[in-house]
Amino acid sequence: MSQKIAIIGSGLSGSVLAYYLQKSTSVSLFEKSQGVSGRMSTRSFADFEFDHGAQFFTARSNKFNEFLLPYLEDRTVVEWKPKILTLEKGKDPFKRLWYEPHYIAQPKMTSLCKAIASSKDIKFKTRIDKIFQKNGRWSLVSGDEIVGEGYCWVISATPAIQTRELFNASGISLNGLSEVNYSPCFSLMVGLSSSVQLNFDAALVKNSPIKWIAVNSSKIGRSMNKTLVIHSSNSWAQDNLERELSYVQDQLFSELISLIGLTEVDVDHIDLARWRYAKVSKASNQEVCLNPSLKVAACGDWCLGSRVEDAFLSAIDLYEALTKSLKADD
Ligand SMILES: Cc1cc2nc3c(=O)[nH]c(=O)nc-3n(C[C@H](O)[C@H](O)[C@H](O)COP(=O)(O)OP(=O)(O)OC[C@H]3O[C@@H](n4cnc5c(N)ncnc54)[C@H](O)[C@@H]3O)c2cc1C
Repeated sequence: MSQKIAIIGSGLSGSVLAYYLQKSTSVSLFEKSQGVSGRMSTRSFADFEFDHGAQFFTARSNKFNEFLLPYLEDRTVVEWKPKILTLEKGKDPFKRLWYEPHYIAQPKMTSLCKAIASSKDIKFKTRIDKIFQKNGRWSLVSGDEIVGEGYCWVISATPAIQTRELFNASGISLNGLSEVNYSPCFSLMVGLSSSVQLNFDAALVKNSPIKWIAVNSSKIGRSMNKTLVIHSSNSWAQDNLERELSYVQDQLFSELISLIGLTEVDVDHIDLARWRYAKVSKASNQEVCLNPSLKVAACGDWCLGSRVEDAFLSAIDLYEALTKSLKADD
């Protein structure tokens, strides 16, 4: 019988790792949210949709480019060529150029992970709080319930801080976790009335609490209702992290109005999300986090950097290291 492996977290790294491991082992995924994708996520409110996490991704390695080929072919992934401006208060906006392809998944940012993780065994709304070993096999605990047992290996594909919490609660130490740091970010989601006209698809903002504005609805495959996704700068988010969300929302919205000249009448919907662990500000100094004697491991963007491609590559690095360990066990 093939080895049983549990993966905690179904963002890109967990989904990619499951995709490869499933070829030779029996994989179960455990995800605390109600869907896959993690920080490559999409939120819906009535008729509005917002890709409020990762905005796009680039592919600089051969491995990621090769992996994306079938998804580019079936148009789950498409190149995004927005009209992109640089905005700064008191200065004329100017057009920016991108010098490498920028990709998005469609019709939503979640679509790539959904395609990768389709037909996988996934338990949603299951937050793993602790793992323990009995007779050489791992069990997974959510709250006070055992939600999975009999696993040879457990892999955490969650942000380093959550991996650290899980392993600490389980009495496990794994090298490479302690030095990782994150910067937070707020995502303001604005649904606009159909009459609003904007002369850009995306904007980088300088010297402002806002660092990025995307006309989300202008991305390929999105619904017709006009939506904006606004990201705060990481430093402004850090300074305002524990403020009331209504305060943060008001501050970012009035900054938006002063930048692009909207009025409150133009807005049909507004909401805010707080990402405590948005962007890795210091990655691990260890490419692969794996303990072959305990049979626990971890992966995620934080192993290598802060981007979608880093999440992919960390899953591939771990897959290659795990394959060697699994062969040695046979
Ligand atoms: C606001 C924002 C903007 C970004 N913009 C870009 C961008 O433009 N380009 C780019 O390349 N990257 C961007 N990123 C970064 C990119 O989203 C990440 O690098 C990538 O998605 C990380 O994937 P991952 O699999 O490593 O982790 P995650 O996507 O964080 O996945 C971890 C998963 O684990 C789950 N989980 C956590 N704890 C538990 C638990 N105890 N039990 C069960 N499940 C658990 C989570 O719910 C989540 O689904 C952005 C991120 C944010 C937040």
